[in-house]
Amino acid sequence: MEIIHVSAECYPVAKAGGLGDVVGALPKYQNKLGSIAKVVMPMYRTKFLMENEWVVDFKGYAYGGGRDFEYTVIKERYNTLGYDLYLIDINGLLDREKIYGYDDDTERFVAFQVAVVDWLSHWQHRPDVIHCHDHHTALIPFIIQHCYAYSFMANVPTVVTIHNAQYQGWMGWYQSYYIPAWDSWKSGLLDWNKNINPLACGIKCAAKVTTVSWSYLEELKVSANGLENLFNYEKGKCVGILNGIDNDVWDPVTDNYIASNFSVKQIKEGKRANKQVLCDQFNFDVHKPLVVFIGRLVGEKAADILPDSIMASIYTMQGNVSFLILGSGDPHVEWQLQSMSNHFPGYYNAVIGYNEKLSHQMYAGADFLLMPSRVEPCGLNQMYAMRYGTVPVVRSTGGLKDTVIDIGDPGGYGIRFNHASVTDITYSIGRAVDAYANQKNLNKMRKRMMQVDNR
Ligand code: ADP
Repeated sequence: MEIIHVSAECYPVAKAGGLGDVVGALPKYQNKLGSIAKVVMPMYRTKFLMENEWVVDFKGYAYGGGRDFEYTVIKERYNTLGYDLYLIDINGLLDREKIYGYDDDTERFVAFQVAVVDWLSHWQHRPDVIHCHDHHTALIPFIIQHCYAYSFMANVPTVVTIHNAQYQGWMGWYQSYYIPAWDSWKSGLLDWNKNINPLACGIKCAAKVTTVSWSYLEELKVSANGLENLFNYEKGKCVGILNGIDNDVWDPVTDNYIASNFSVKQIKEGKRANKQVLCDQFNFDVHKPLVVFIGRLVGEKAADILPDSIMASIYTMQGNVSFLILGSGDPHVEWQLQSMSNHFPGYYNAVIGYNEKLSHQMYAGADFLLMPSRVEPCGLNQMYAMRYGTVPVVRSTGGLKDTVIDIGDPGGYGIRFNHASVTDITYSIGRAVDAYANQKNLNKMRKRMMQVDNR
């Protein structure tokens, strides 16, 4: 079976979050299982682009945005990622430093989707499945079914996977000219609440819709940033499939990013050595439990209540706990978290920005990983943490609920709480500090979680 993954992110080419990790790993394992999985994504100006060899696969013209535009498809020459990787370049639109965050993002991603469909339309054969990831690619099912230029491909099955339904790619109708001419009787498929809503359109038009955990699918029927009714109406074609992690990339035995490699058998020494590196770097007492947070500093991740929760925890635990933050996002939260490090030297520190290497070192060296997320479609951090023997402290929501068992339950290896509130977080940090006091039990728990199969 030939599967074409279409995505805005793919690790290690370009990653902003979990979407990149999943699209980077899934095709490799689908190929190992006998499928032919390929990835197509925009050509950003990234390190991976500069450091690898490329061949031109196709050059074509497509119509969108009131003009014909030229696009080029390049292919990575040596299959280094374990699957065919194609990048699409559209002059001036896609070759940027960042993935998202430009004023013309709508035009960029619609043009990308049109170029993908146009390229596929020139193939001698049809792929068996076009697998679209998140709203940046969710117009593709509509384009191949209802745009006159491509509707001869209408019977190619499409899957839309929702990694995050908070972002839907809303466009005003005045921007509809980015999409090639379509059968106007079908305009309702593009519309949601008097706007063009690419994610909603993808849910309506795709053959199958998947979400990245079972609990998230259930939650979307109640809270989906305006799409609740749609998820209820289309529930027959929706299925929750829990994300997995790439055990080759995230392996404490071989990980080049961490200071000291370790296996389950060397858990005690391995954790200690990696924690020492973090404590030296960030001025912490190695004997105290170290709690870390890694992620986007946005409301979904409850980053806004981190400052108060950390302060409350440090006071309540009488300084018997340390915190380290790595993240970027809301400038106000960034500023708060950054400036707090002056007030709690020795107990708290923060690195504002994106740092892949440091994130690995933190998974390896921390005792606990805090995830108080308000919304968490799947969450990969808790699975990485478990693989490196770090106890997840998570709010019971979405994928966190599906992957973490509380230490109070049989076979448990994590700490769960119900509310994204300062009180619940502080209480859970208290439970973490108590768990840390019993090192023998903690090591048993670490061994257990490192062996959980989250692939
Ligand atoms: P989301 O996709 O919602 O951001 P996930 O938990 O699914 O959250 O995936 C987050 C991924 O991004 C993980 O691989 C995590 O390690 C990584 N990550 C997030 N923020 C940073 C950062 N500031 N530096 C390094 N890695 C980060």
